[in-house]
Amino acid sequence: MARNAFVPFLQPIVDSITGKIVGAELLVRLLAEDASIIPPKDFIGVAEQTGTIIEITEQILDKALVTIANASKLTRNELYLSINIVPAHLQSDRLFDFLMQRIHMGIIRQSQIKLEITERLPIDDLLGARIYLQAFYRIDILASLDDAGTGYGCFLYLQELGLSSLKIDKQFIDTIVNDTSTAVLNAIIALANSLGLDIVAEGVESIEQKDHLQALGVNICQGYLFGQPMNTVAFVEWIESI
Ligand code: C2E
Ligand code: CA
Ligand code: CA
Repeated sequence: MARNAFVPFLQPIVDSITGKIVGAELLVRLLAEDASIIPPKDFIGVAEQTGTIIEITEQILDKALVTIANASKLTRNELYLSINIVPAHLQSDRLFDFLMQRIHMGIIRQSQIKLEITERLPIDDLLGARIYLQAFYRIDILASLDDAGTGYGCFLYLQELGLSSLKIDKQFIDTIVNDTSTAVLNAIIALANSLGLDIVAEGVESIEQKDHLQALGVNICQGYLFGQPMNTVAFVEWIESI
């Protein structure tokens, strides 16, 4: 924290039909003292358990918000930033206050912020989480179910939390071309459609996967096929190159 060593990386979220970017996910990286990059899997578990993830998120958010605002000007499109939020962070006033302050400062509009709530982590107090989320919904900051299908409470979270979109986890995209394992994927898509949720597919690596998703009506994609997570400078260069 003291070295300011947590840095924001951004990965494009793209409309696979038009090829246009619609937003980006904020993914944290830790810069080691030898300048090598440490991936979240090596520290995010500890950061979540200790609650440090709240400060880490704040450390990387400002730069990410400014980058998304600049990228929106470059593309002449209102891009959004999708932010991974753990339950402990959601259930503190800090996130709301932090984001409201940036909105009042004119750095970003509320419609450009999305919260990703993972079902990988249990939410002890669903009612409390719902109340916090409703404060965001009132000011037009929407939330998405992350890692849908992999964790604790896909159905329950969708029913209780008023989420407006759903992110299909990479593991269901990995096996998409293999006909026998698409039953769960089809069920997730059907569920999202019947609840009127937007769908984002994560971890799209091949044209076959993209085509298959399009056939299922899923056009908003994130994955190496479109762009890797990039530091903010590389992200703006990527935007300028498309
Ligand atoms: P996630 O939220 O499911 O994020 C998507 C992960 O899939 C990212 O891994 C991303 O780099 C990776 N990915 C996306 N497209 C592809 C693809 O086409 N192929 C492959 N092989 N991978 C792809 P990453 O950045 O290593 O992050 C891992 C996890 O760490 C995230 O999973 C999320 O749970 C957590 N995480 C990352 N940044 C943050 C953060 O700022 N806050 C919190 N709370 N969690 C974070
Ligand atoms: Ca995520
Ligand atoms: Ca995932």
